[in-house]
Amino acid sequence: MIAGRLAATFATGVLADALSVSVDEGRVMVSRRVYGGAAVRTEQCLSGPAVVTVGAGVFTVPEGTADGNGVIVAINDVPAENKIKCVGKYKKQGDSVDLSAAKRVVGVGRGFAGRDDIKLAQELALALEAEVGCTRPIGEGENWLPRETYLGVTGTIIKPKLYLALGISGQVQHMVGVNAAQTIVAVNKDKNAPIFKEADYGIVGDLYKVAPGLTKLFTAAKQADS
Ligand SMILES: Cc1cc2nc3c(=O)[nH]c(=O)nc-3n(C[C@H](O)[C@H](O)[C@H](O)COP(=O)(O)OP(=O)(O)OC[C@H]3O[C@@H](n4cnc5c(N)ncnc54)[C@H](O)[C@@H]3O)c2cc1C
Repeated sequence: MIAGRLAATFATGVLADALSVSVDEGRVMVSRRVYGGAAVRTEQCLSGPAVVTVGAGVFTVPEGTADGNGVIVAINDVPAENKIKCVGKYKKQGDSVDLSAAKRVVGVGRGFAGRDDIKLAQELALALEAEVGCTRPIGEGENWLPRETYLGVTGTIIKPKLYLALGISGQVQHMVGVNAAQTIVAVNKDKNAPIFKEADYGIVGDLYKVAPGLTKLFTAAKQADS
């Protein structure tokens, strides 16, 4: 809404959900995913400056260049035209993990048979010092994990060093949110699961055996290091 109002004020357009931004002969161009992540489209704003929005985690601040806070420019106060009044502020309920900043993420998919079993992923995440993310059916549908932790084209996009997917088939709508990870490891009992085509390392096996095994291994390695 803010982007639209800003664009209307400056008589220009909004280019939403940009994956890349460039300027060609003074016109702003962006690329963005369409058809649920199956294709990428290029869009150009014909009216000079444009308002561009990007998703969390799509761009990273180059190291040593800035702290990500941008430049703060003081402007004269503009009185609000509407009658909305703030009557109180409340902290959003639920976990507020910034998955887009996480170095390691363990992904939970529908291979988990029940909500309680997710502790296997949480224990593995603890051993790996990782955060827990999930697929859309787990975060929105089953509601076994907070909605904001689901990864993908309509969820959060991440760029961790490691993404370890447990019981995730690897549909394109999920993978576009995680395939910028430096290393993808997948655990799936189906050797033909599409995720194995995109994973750097794959373990064909039952997550109920593999996840506790990995937790034991990483916990022992951590103890040996300390
Ligand atoms: C417009 C649109 C937008 C969408 N956006 C998103 C999005 O942003 N993010 C997203 O995640 N999804 C999104 N989806 C849904 C997406 O298409 C898939 O349905 C979803 O990602 C599948 O989730 P999953 O891999 O957990 O489940 P499934 O596809 O059901 O896969 C479960 C996998 O677990 C494996 N498995 C089962 N039991 C075990 C076991 N014991 N051990 C090991 N492996 C096991 C199975 O072999 C299977 O491969 C979107 C869909 C649409 C139509």
